[in-house]
Amino acid sequence: MDLFEDQARDIFEAHGVPVLQGLIADTPQEAEAAAAKIGGTVVVKAQVKVGGRGKAGGVKLAHNPEEAKAAAEAILGLDIKGHVVKRVMIAQGAAIDKEYYFSVLLDRSNRTFLSLCSVEGGMEIEQLAEERPDALAKIAVDAVHGIDLAKALEIAKAGGFDDEIAAKVAPVFVKLYDVFVKEDATLVEVNPLVLTKSGEIVALDGKVTLDDNAEFRHSRQEMERDQLDPLEAKAKAADLNYVKLDGEVGIIGNGAGLVMSTLDVVAYAGERHGGVRPANFLDIGGGASAEVMAAGLDVILGDSQVKSVFVNVFGGITACDAVANGIVGALAKLGASATKPLVVRLDGNNVEEGRRILADANHPLVTVVATMDEAADKAAELANR
Ligand code: GDP
Ligand code: MN
Repeated sequence: MDLFEDQARDIFEAHGVPVLQGLIADTPQEAEAAAAKIGGTVVVKAQVKVGGRGKAGGVKLAHNPEEAKAAAEAILGLDIKGHVVKRVMIAQGAAIDKEYYFSVLLDRSNRTFLSLCSVEGGMEIEQLAEERPDALAKIAVDAVHGIDLAKALEIAKAGGFDDEIAAKVAPVFVKLYDVFVKEDATLVEVNPLVLTKSGEIVALDGKVTLDDNAEFRHSRQEMERDQLDPLEAKAKAADLNYVKLDGEVGIIGNGAGLVMSTLDVVAYAGERHGGVRPANFLDIGGGASAEVMAAGLDVILGDSQVKSVFVNVFGGITACDAVANGIVGALAKLGASATKPLVVRLDGNNVEEGRRILADANHPLVTVVATMDEAADKAAELANR
């Protein structure tokens, strides 16, 4: 999960990384009040998960609350690289002398952590890496040793800091590494890390990616604000692997590989039926109990774009008869809220029994089709009606 800047700021603060005061605002009025509370010059910053906000007009200096209100008016609703701004952060202004870059991240290909560091911060890292590759130090960080003060000094020197400033930034690097480990992050980036005119080091903009696999060690529910659309949130609560797409054919399958190939055959079949496309990716995983199937159908039927649903299951450990019972049970459970046609293709363990259960139930919405291609064709046809 990627965090918003204001969330990164709060985490930094909790771990003793020097940051400036920051308050969030969803309206120009709130921005004005926040600026009044902070006092003096503030910076109004778009909270979107994309870099280059500065250049896109998403970061504005305001000298008083009225200016902050006007800045928020201009920034809220702005589309920055496809991300519409719904919230701004009002940050205490900094008198910047120098802008630096620091990050620590998981380097999967080398099976280690990696720190990137440069005295030439401010611009986007990709641009820096391209234009001034020599100015960007890449230092491997051993996961067991981590970043202690000596390692931090090594990183700072490699990044081009002189002794005096290295001594100032190194303790901040140590704290940022603390954030990285204790929060189970896969990326902690500060750009810019600044030296203020009064000689202080401050993390002015933070980007943090948390490792979702470590979620059980933290309580991060409230960090998920604005992350998920309501259907995604519903799917997540039911432990379903769900991704919303743009088309009309809802897809439920078991196993990521099967679901992905189902997307392909549906897209292909759609070409013969008015160009309909998959509406989602929903993997119910190994268990296809009535509860899981009901939860999956509930999510997909909740998508108003969905015109038909294709249930494509290969019975393995959970055999086809259990899946068929799941479908019948789910439809009974959903009752009148199930309104869209279902095309079901079952194969694998106990397939005969599974098909018999569906035939016996004889549900008006369900069509059982023997092969995946024919089922995809049927689902596309129904979606195009
Ligand atoms: P990004 O463009 O999305 O990475 O947003 P940043 O938070 O990094 O801000 C972009 C730039 O705005 C920074 O590199 C700074 O030059 C400038 N900036 C941000 N905060 C302040 C501030 O408090 N004071 C001043 N003077 N400039 C700021
Ligand atoms: Mn930045």
